[in-house]
Amino acid sequence: MLKAILMKAAVMTAHSEPLSVTCVEVPQPGEGQILIKLRACGVCHSDVHIWKADFVPPEAPSPFILGHEGVGTIIALGAGVTGWDVGDPVGVPWLHDTCGRCNECLDEAEPFCQHQRAHGLHVPGAFAEYVVADTRFAVALPAEMDPVTTAPIMCAGVTAYGAIRRAGLKAGETCAIFGCGGLGLYAVQIATRLGARVLAIDSSPTKLEIARRYGAEWIDLADAGLVERLAGYDPKFHICINFAPTTATWDAMVAAVRPRGRIVAAAMVSKPVPLNQEWLTATGVTITGNQCRHPRGNARGRRHACGKAAGV
Ligand SMILES: [Zn+2]
Ligand SMILES: [Zn+2]
Repeated sequence: MLKAILMKAAVMTAHSEPLSVTCVEVPQPGEGQILIKLRACGVCHSDVHIWKADFVPPEAPSPFILGHEGVGTIIALGAGVTGWDVGDPVGVPWLHDTCGRCNECLDEAEPFCQHQRAHGLHVPGAFAEYVVADTRFAVALPAEMDPVTTAPIMCAGVTAYGAIRRAGLKAGETCAIFGCGGLGLYAVQIATRLGARVLAIDSSPTKLEIARRYGAEWIDLADAGLVERLAGYDPKFHICINFAPTTATWDAMVAAVRPRGRIVAAAMVSKPVPLNQEWLTATGVTITGNQCRHPRGNARGRRHACGKAAGV
């Protein structure tokens, strides 16, 4: 019915060139998929990385439409879809699908699946009027929500939440959050609401003031004296999480974390950092990482009637 109907989309025709708002065909939902009419989509820094060709998929989607923080309404169901209805409000996150067969998928840790496909990287994303999503990864949303403020939660919000869960944060613990952009400020709000005492660190005094309003107990400016100041904290922090896309925070996290503490890398930092194994054996610090999080808790999203692994 929708075949040959055109939609407007912001298409990337070349890396680092302005997106071209043009007409392309409305995608068709396949088995286990839904067609969504979008109401809003956030712009994630990963979109910028992809646009600049920092991440290049082995096979570019056609058309190459960025965007993985979409919010919209279902307008058509693919074959075999149950538990979803036309008119349902729905979110479009980073993950389009995963292999469904590897240890990570079987352990419900799909963001670590090495065969995952993402909206706006491997398949067309949500900088468009319509997008197709897999019901296993689409996010059921409440009817009463503001699409503009809900959209960034689809990646930035769940990534911040995922990093905090990965850190195993417990109420009463101290948590140093490095980088107070979109993700870091979500993390400040989530960590404080989970009962942590939060130190927010950023190079921008304006962002630090926002972090304080959002619940940070302490703030510190990322300047030349930061590492020395953090080394003087007593006691040091149970958890350090990096949301700043730079290697510059590494020494500061090493200085701030307490023995047996946890360091979580959440920002995409491709350059290496120094690690002294003797320091690791002496402190017992755990170092781990996290990217997006599957916005689970969405029982409807698990009802995928076809029961087949995704085609990757
Ligand atoms: Zn993102
Ligand atoms: Zn997998």
